[in-house]
Formats: sequence, structure tokens, C-alpha cells
Amino acid sequence: MCGIVAYIGNKEAYPILIKGLRRLEYRGYDSAGISLVNAGLNVYKCKGKVSDLEAFASGKDVSGVVGIGHTRWATHGEPNDVNAHPHQSGNEHLAIIHNGIIENYDSLKTELKKRGHVFKSDTDTEVLVHLIEDVQANEDLPLAEAVRVALTQVVGAYAIAVLDRNDPNVIIGAKKGSPMVVGIGKGEFFLASDATPIVEYTKEVVYLEDEQIVELRLGQEVRIKNIENETLTPYIQELELHLEALEKGGYDHFMLKEIFEQPKSIADSMRGRFHVESGDVSLGGIIDYEQKLVSAKRIIIVACGTSWHAGLVGEYLIEDLARIPVEVEYASEFRYRNPIINEEDVVIAISQSGETADTLAALELAKSKGATTIGICNVVGSSISRVTDAGSYTHAGPEIGVASTKAFTAQVTVLILMALRLAHKRGSIPESRFHQMLASLEKLPKQVEETLKTASLVEHISKQYKDVRNFLYLGRGYNFPVALEGALKLKEISYIHAEGYPAAEMKHGPIALIDEEMPVVVIATSKGNYEKVISNIQEVKARKGKIIAIVTEGDVTAAELADHVIEIPDTEEALVPILASVPLQLLSYYIAVMRGCNVDQPRNLAKSVTVE
Ligand code: GLU
Repeated sequence: MCGIVAYIGNKEAYPILIKGLRRLEYRGYDSAGISLVNAGLNVYKCKGKVSDLEAFASGKDVSGVVGIGHTRWATHGEPNDVNAHPHQSGNEHLAIIHNGIIENYDSLKTELKKRGHVFKSDTDTEVLVHLIEDVQANEDLPLAEAVRVALTQVVGAYAIAVLDRNDPNVIIGAKKGSPMVVGIGKGEFFLASDATPIVEYTKEVVYLEDEQIVELRLGQEVRIKNIENETLTPYIQELELHLEALEKGGYDHFMLKEIFEQPKSIADSMRGRFHVESGDVSLGGIIDYEQKLVSAKRIIIVACGTSWHAGLVGEYLIEDLARIPVEVEYASEFRYRNPIINEEDVVIAISQSGETADTLAALELAKSKGATTIGICNVVGSSISRVTDAGSYTHAGPEIGVASTKAFTAQVTVLILMALRLAHKRGSIPESRFHQMLASLEKLPKQVEETLKTASLVEHISKQYKDVRNFLYLGRGYNFPVALEGALKLKEISYIHAEGYPAAEMKHGPIALIDEEMPVVVIATSKGNYEKVISNIQEVKARKGKIIAIVTEGDVTAAELADHVIEIPDTEEALVPILASVPLQLLSYYIAVMRGCNVDQPRNLAKSVTVE
């Protein structure tokens, strides 16, 4: 959460920072702010979005070739003008932007207050800039060194960028737990939470590691030190990101664009990873640790939010096909509940951004107990991809909409490939079924394209339900996680209360909610527990609930019972979650648009949850 961007070079910094902040706005939009070094140090910040900041800064002096910018997702202190970043030191010589949480900010603040520091905001971040000022003053240190010494006293997570009006040709960055990437251009440097603000200007980047401090000084090379004050050689990498992937490309919203990109993103997730004729499946990134997976006594999947739902589909897949016991855990619970993990376990972490703080911490815990760790991430070079022993990228391309769509189906695609590979290696799947599944898998991108043709029907259905207050989503087997994900999508972007339930569990509680006002989305595809789901539909109908059924094309029984029917192509039961998710994504999208909600930036949310 929170997006940070910084520029130092030969161009005016302001337009670069604003553009960068727009790209990072998915990370938070409670407030926005910038600071520029010119004759002095100008700070402009306000509650609201980057557009509010632009309006606020209009007509003011925004000159300067050195600057930092921030878009906030508040953790400490309400979202208002005063708590917006950048924060300044007491003498107003320093300005800082920060992504993360300084956990010991309270004790540091008490100490600093005793030494005469006066604070303006409620944030943990302001404490850090006062601490740097304090170190600088007491020990008479240059900025980079003062930042390093200050950080030795900090507990928590941070990605920071610091300016000093007394040393106008330098920006100091540092990170621990939150992401930070340095861009190296010709006579200019960039610093950002991810590469999206950088890709337009340079493809040469350095991903900072935890507890590293970078000094970007005009006219000099990048200098990196660790917190122990050892000088390190920067590892410069080439970015694979393309600018077009970051634009809306004619769609009204990123979310809609990303929903419609799924035929391609799923194909990209599969590309080069299987051949139907030869019956080959392989995930290059995990090959070195594959034997650990094949012989694992148990697999634990840790994730949060939508990725947790993908993990649940993974559990069904791996247990069904590869016959290895799987547990799926919320990373935030797992890390704090003293779980039993040992060296024979394999822990798979799923995260779109690869930066999810709880998932990262769960991985660290698993590593410390000797488990093998595998990552499934979308963002190349992200923290999770670096801390795990091995992993598979989802290759879905940048996902900007805060509500995840194409990243989810790409995660499920990778899990299908993984389950099939393990099943084949373990001999737990009959050859004929294995080949049948590969053939079906190959057809998936085309079938997703077919499924997207339901968009206008889904839009029409959405009109009738846009004003309801509750929704229920039901599914069984492989479609239970799909029901959970459908409900989450609706909650996230339309603010309608929605619950996903295993269809059979409905009668143990939620059935009490059903009346003629209550729309119930039922995933009633033809394989698996079809008859049982039909019974559940009957139970809803008997109580006058409205049924929106996702069915396999050509279905008659469910279609007769339901108020609305959305058909998806026929495929293997294990592959249905991918197809069935698509109309549910569209349903939440259209309802949210009709309710006037900000689809790409839903309230209170942010995409990359880098705080716990
Ligand atoms: N803790 C800082 C604040 O509340 C930064 C929050 C974040 O990175 O999400 O302002």
C-alpha cells in the first residue's frame, strides 16, 4: 500500500512525478503529495486523489529537477491533509515519503518529544523523518549515513525516499519489507514502488533488497549500502514491462480491459508449459524443487483475498489429481498461530503483486522451520519471487484494477498445470484422463473468449439487481471457491453485501436470508454435483429467491428453474472455475458501474497490500 516515486535528473520533476503517481494510484488514494527541491523545499499535499493534488498545486511553484511523490493508503492517522505525505523534519530541511509501518513509532516519538521535537501529524512516518533529523543534528552526518543510522533504530516495514534542502543534488532511498525499485536513465534516476512509473524512461532497473540504502546523486553512479554500512554492487536488470500494458486501451475501466484480456493472459500463463501431443507439462521455475513437491507429505498454500480463493481451487486440483494432502491458509492467520510445519512440507505462496506483507511473513516463518517454499506471483522480480526457493510466474501482465480478475484466472491456470505435472509424476492420474485434460486446457483461451460474449446479457441482468442490498453465491466442489470469489468481487467494487457459500451449507444458516428480494447466483455446471446443485436451486425457489444460474451450454434443467441463465462452454470439471469466474466478474463490474462506484479504485481498498 502507498505508492512512492522519486526523480532526480535533468528534466522538470513535477510532470514525471504526477504521471508516476497516476500509475501507482492503485496502491492507495487516500491522499497525494509531492515535494520538490528548488531554491528551497516545496511541499504540496492534500486529501484525495492525484487529480486533487494537481488542482491544489496548480498555479504554485512546481519547478525543480529533484522531487518525491506519494499516494497514500492510510495506516496511522486518518486520511486528511496533515497526515498526507511528504512529511517534514522539525527544521523543515528534510522531506520523506514512506510505504509501510514503523511499528515502534510510539516509543520513538516519546523519546523524540523529550528531546524537544514537536509533531504535526498522527503518522508513524513523521516520527521517522524527525529521527533522521535528530541523528543528522547530533552526529553531524551526511544524509545517507543519517538515514542508515536512523533505520537501525526502526522496527517495522518501510520503503522511503528522503530529500534534504541542504544537499539538493541527492535522493536517499531505503527499503525493508515494502518494495522499491531504482531506475537508471541517462543522467537521471528514478525510484518507485514498482516499475510502472519508470518504464517510459528507462528499462535499466535495480530491485533493492531489504535493509539496503541507495544514494542517487546527480552526476554519480548508483551507490548501495546495507544497513551494516557495507558497500554493495548494484545488480542491474532489464525490465520486461511494456508501456501499452499500463494504458486503458479504449476501455472505460482497467477492470473491464483486464476481464477482456483473459483469453490472452490465460494463454500467456500456459505458453510453452505443455504440449498436448507429447503429453509434456513443465513449469521451468520449479523444476529444481519438483522432487520436493512430488514427495511432499503435505502442501500448505498461504495467500490472502482473491489469491486465497485461487489457493482453494488449487487444493481441489492437487488433491483430486495428484493425491497430495493440501491445506489452504489465510497468511495472516497462519503466521500468528504457531502452525506445525516441518522439512517435509512444501509451502506455496500465491500473490499477484508478490509483495503481500502477510504472505511474505508466512513464507519467512515456513522457511525458518525448514519447509520448501514455492511462489506463484504475477509481478516479476517481486519480493515473494525472490525469497522463495522456486516459483512460477503467472505472466498475466500488469493488473491495474484493484479488484483482481485476470490475475486470479492466471493463478488458477498455473495451479492446474502444477497439479497435472505432479499427478503425472506421481502416477496418480490415468494416462487417458491426463491427455484429455491437456486437450481441454488448450481450448480454454478460446472458451474464455466465447464466455466473454455473455457480457451484454450479464449487463442486462445487472440492471435488475443493481439496487439490491444482499447477494448470495452458491457452488459446490470446484465451484465453491468460485462462489466465494464472485461474492468478494461484488463486495469489493459495488459495496453490496454478498456471501459465498458451499451450496449444501446454505440450509445450515443463510437460507434464512432468502426471500423474494434476494438474488442467489448459483454455479450449476453440468459436471460434478449437478443434481445436488439442482436440489439447492429448488430450495431457493421454494422460498421465492431469484436465481441467476451459471450453466453449461445446452443445459435444460437448471435453465428451467432459474430466473436468469448464463451459459458457459463445456469443459472438464477441474477447469470450470476459470470459465465460471468470467460472468461473475462481469456481473460485479456492471453492477458497480450502474451504482456509480469507482470500479478501478474502490473505497478503502488498495491493490498491493504491503502492510499487515
Ligand atoms: N504508515 C504510513 C501512513 O499511514 C504509510 C502507510 C502505507 O504504506 O500503507 O501514512
